[in-house]
Amino acid sequence: MVKVGSVGIGSAAPIVIQSMTKVPTTDIARCLRQIRQLVEAGCELVRIAVPRRADTAAFAKIVPKANVPLIADVHFSPDRAIEAIKAGAAKIRLNPGNIRNRKDIFRIIDAAKMHETAIRIGVNEASIRDLKAAPVPTAKRIALMLKEMKGYVRLFEARGFTQLVLSAKSSDAARTIEINRRISQTFDYPIHLGLTHAGLPEDARVPSAVTLGALLADGIGDTIRVSAAGNPVEEVKIAKQILLSLGLHERSGPELIVCPTCGRTEIDVIKLARRIQKAICRLDKPVRVAVMGCVVNGPGEAADAELAICAAKNKAFIYRRGRKVSTVPEERIIPALMEELQGI
Ligand code: SF4
Repeated sequence: MVKVGSVGIGSAAPIVIQSMTKVPTTDIARCLRQIRQLVEAGCELVRIAVPRRADTAAFAKIVPKANVPLIADVHFSPDRAIEAIKAGAAKIRLNPGNIRNRKDIFRIIDAAKMHETAIRIGVNEASIRDLKAAPVPTAKRIALMLKEMKGYVRLFEARGFTQLVLSAKSSDAARTIEINRRISQTFDYPIHLGLTHAGLPEDARVPSAVTLGALLADGIGDTIRVSAAGNPVEEVKIAKQILLSLGLHERSGPELIVCPTCGRTEIDVIKLARRIQKAICRLDKPVRVAVMGCVVNGPGEAADAELAICAAKNKAFIYRRGRKVSTVPEERIIPALMEELQGI
């Protein structure tokens, strides 16, 4: 297991959700506000870009005030990496391919060892020189990425550094799945999963869920970051949904299940579901509530829900773990549901 401050990555530890701040690092107040929002949403590690000296100086002021271990995102500059390590980064993210001088990489490794800082080494398909001359067949792309990763790992191990997390990214879902499978077969280090350039939040959901979900379902991946343009809290929400759907994350709040509806529905199920969602969203119980559009299939399909509302014309039947407990008029559905929830 690799320790990133108070958070363990790898081995039998739960999958760690991480994200990144998206405000200027030098705007310390906004940065800290975004970190707090991310933590509230369920983010366990927060990464911060430190491209300039002023950013690592700001990073040093952010670290003691942040309520979560921080990762410094470094590109190109060994000095930024060392400054961030000295400033208290729990981990740094580094693409060794961007740092040409081996002595500089050793300087970073030595600083990380001294400060017990973990390092994520990343291979990014877009930054491998031999892949820039298109077209390159997929098998060759994967082989080149793996070769590059092997070279990096050897370099770090030769310097006696093993607090490594590995990542290999592509904007292509199939290639990301394949390279991560190969990495998990080749190395014993924890793996960071992510997909680059996933798009706007509404466009990022499916590729992220497909890519990360396929790997996680095979037991590959120890920490995940969903990349989506816009508010990073959305990234955390998507990441949580992916983990929850695979049973890899403990639910702390309610889960709402809604049937897809069909020609049997006699009331506006979507409207009812939205009202129920609003009513239960602040509950801090991990209860599953189902809203079903009929009593034909509804009770059976919702049998594993703690509570199910099976709607009919102007009324609803309330089921508790598959057993009918009451019939209520439409206007009483939500109060009756809330009363039932109190007893759970
Ligand atoms: S629960 Fe009833 S209304 Fe909903 S999809 Fe199934 S059959 Fe149709």
